[in-house]
Amino acid sequence: MIGMVVVSHSAKLAEGVCDLARQVGQGRVRIAAAGGTADPDNPIGTDAFQVLQAIESVYSEDGVLVLMDLGSAVLSAETALELLGEEKSSRVELCGAPLVEGAVAAATLAAAGAGLAEIAHEALNALAGKVAQCPPQPSPAEDTGASEEALVTLTNRLGLHARPAAQLVRLARRYRARVTLDDVAASSINGVLSLGAREGHQLRIRAQGAEAHEALAALVRFIESGCGELAPAEPMVQASGIAASAGIAIGPLAKLRPAAMEIAPRAIGNPETEQQRLVAAIHGAQEETRALYEWSKAHIGADEAGIFDAQSLFLEDPELLGAVSRRLLEDRVGAESAWQAETMRLADRLAALDDPYLRARAADVADVAARVLRRLTGQSTAARVLREPSILSAHDLTPSEVKDLDPAMALGLCLEAASASAHSVILARAMGIPVVAGLGPGVSALADGTTVAVDGEQGTVWISPDAAQVEALEVRRRNWLAARRAAELERHRPAATRDGRRIRVFANISGIPEAAEAVACGAEGVGVLRTEFLFLGRAAAPGEEEQLAAYRAIAESLGGRPLTIRALDIGGDKRLPYIEIGEEANPFLGWRGIRVLLSRRDLFRTQLRAILRAGAAQPVELLLPMIASLDELRETKALVGEAEADLEREGLPFRKNMRIGVMIEVPAAVAIADQLAREASFFSIGSNDLIQYAMAADRTNSRVAPIADPFQPAVLRMIRQTIEAARLAGIGVALCGELAADPVATPLLLGLGLEEFSVSAPLIPELKRAISLWSVPEAEAVAREALAMDSCQSVRRLLLLKRPSPEPRRQP
Ligand code: PEP
Ligand code: MG
Repeated sequence: MIGMVVVSHSAKLAEGVCDLARQVGQGRVRIAAAGGTADPDNPIGTDAFQVLQAIESVYSEDGVLVLMDLGSAVLSAETALELLGEEKSSRVELCGAPLVEGAVAAATLAAAGAGLAEIAHEALNALAGKVAQCPPQPSPAEDTGASEEALVTLTNRLGLHARPAAQLVRLARRYRARVTLDDVAASSINGVLSLGAREGHQLRIRAQGAEAHEALAALVRFIESGCGELAPAEPMVQASGIAASAGIAIGPLAKLRPAAMEIAPRAIGNPETEQQRLVAAIHGAQEETRALYEWSKAHIGADEAGIFDAQSLFLEDPELLGAVSRRLLEDRVGAESAWQAETMRLADRLAALDDPYLRARAADVADVAARVLRRLTGQSTAARVLREPSILSAHDLTPSEVKDLDPAMALGLCLEAASASAHSVILARAMGIPVVAGLGPGVSALADGTTVAVDGEQGTVWISPDAAQVEALEVRRRNWLAARRAAELERHRPAATRDGRRIRVFANISGIPEAAEAVACGAEGVGVLRTEFLFLGRAAAPGEEEQLAAYRAIAESLGGRPLTIRALDIGGDKRLPYIEIGEEANPFLGWRGIRVLLSRRDLFRTQLRAILRAGAAQPVELLLPMIASLDELRETKALVGEAEADLEREGLPFRKNMRIGVMIEVPAAVAIADQLAREASFFSIGSNDLIQYAMAADRTNSRVAPIADPFQPAVLRMIRQTIEAARLAGIGVALCGELAADPVATPLLLGLGLEEFSVSAPLIPELKRAISLWSVPEAEAVAREALAMDSCQSVRRLLLLKRPSPEPRRQP
């Protein structure tokens, strides 16, 4: 049986109509009211989310009929349908019937088991009886004079939809004449809309009355001129991708050329000289690569920086260097030609391999090879030759290419590949460059210089936007930049919601210099110190004293702010030569995190001792990665107990009763969060891994990036369950994955009760600002609605819709 929803600006009116309809429906029809707003100061109006909830409460496969009163009621109902998702909304009919008569007619038929189409038709005609009883009295003006008529063809592309229909009705009403269009009254918006007239439809206009002639002429002119709608010269085009780094940018498109440059072969005199040039270029590139490694280690983390370490090795590869030298001697070509030919051969060989990991290394080879080539030829990459601020488009970028970008010239990025969690994208985000990723080849096919606009918040690229669109986007860009500047100025203020709930904002760091940066960006402490930076890129594990010195240096930079040190999280995509993990078919499901530590107690014990000692005079706590069972936590606690006893015996100062927290990043940990909460001091939700494991979607595989969406209902339920378990047990809970830094997600996380966020330092000001825009009840309402949705797309649409806007809110 179909369901019914009554939408009205007045809650009382909606309820009253529902009562009436329920009576005739004899309790057999499910009817819901969506009237008024939730704002007690402005109760008259409509609310799309109320309409959405009402539809969902009566929804069944048979369908739902929605009756609306006026104006924004129709808009709200249309928005609700968008949020409902395609499949369900195809079974919902927005019906232009008169509210009271339509509801009564619909409920009567629905109770009798009629189908949706029949019921909607009956409801639309529900006024017929009343009109027959009380026929309209023609006004004297309409009653006199001859009748005139004309045939006119609709030329506007979208036909007589709501806006032109309303203009037409207003126009017809100006004249003292009775005007009809195809026999419906031109003074009735419902009548005109019910014609469903499309482009090319021939309308018969009849007018009778004192001003019939003028009315007819005016209507013919109006319709023939396109009903006030200008035909767009060229339809505006949009491309959709992954919203990877928020912000708006508009500018001419500049495509990044592939690293391979065109090098004209040239005859050479002395191969020896070419060999020397080559050696010098490789040496310079090695230094550059080393600098890139250091910079990335400090700014994005040692594991991410590891790529540059590997690139250094490539520059020393004897086979490659031998092949280039042979080519120099045998072919007697320039060093650049020999180098390019051999490195391209190697990159092509890698690109043709079956193993996706090795295939991806082709890009690394091209990246480092280009670095040498630039030195040999003096040519720059496209990023460096930008002559005006531009939007860059590329298949993908390496972190080194992103790092080389000047944000004043590279206004935004359009990437064919990549995902929101690709390292290059994480870096662009930290540099404040808006990015839309995963666009496919569309944008790169455009000519250089084409005006494009990047909306990195919604994942949209506008191609050749018209003047009005550019103006609207410019306004949004200015607002975005102003908000960023305002956030920077406020970054040292403690974060709080609009109604004063304090929220802790911490930094994720992976190195010593980042601790000072975190403080400078307004962090209240470090939520996660990824200790892998100390272990990667070396032949043996760091000893206790080395670790202690590093942890102490970081704690001291924090000036008394709390420091959460995460135990080594190795395995998955991070390998160390001195920890034997062996070949694994699924490394992310293999020997990783706490599993490695508990099997390599020597290593774990050393790290635990260093952490306990670093906490002697500083507020340090311990965080455990990849916990999936209570046993792992208990075993670790036993090891901590042993380390404490040893330190006590040795007379070394250390932190007693150190707080021990658990990363919640494996679905199993969510399932037993209540048990873990009884024995852990705090939780830190690692959404990056939680999403990967919950959705069974490898976080390094851009193909499954759309599945690994943080707004997946499954993920949101897990976050809710974790926060709830922590709340019940009275322990703190933070979220330290990339999701915490997305301002679109802020109300959702606040509404779920999250009181601690941990993000990359440069993103702290923006997060604090996002938090300050919400009151707790508002955020809770958003979270409730989001948790009721059944797809990540609906959740994202909801959050984007609810985003506080600098523009005034729309009035009903
Ligand atoms: C996470 O998984 O969300 C997290 C913060 O840890 P990492 O990204 O270091 O795995
Ligand atoms: Mg993790």
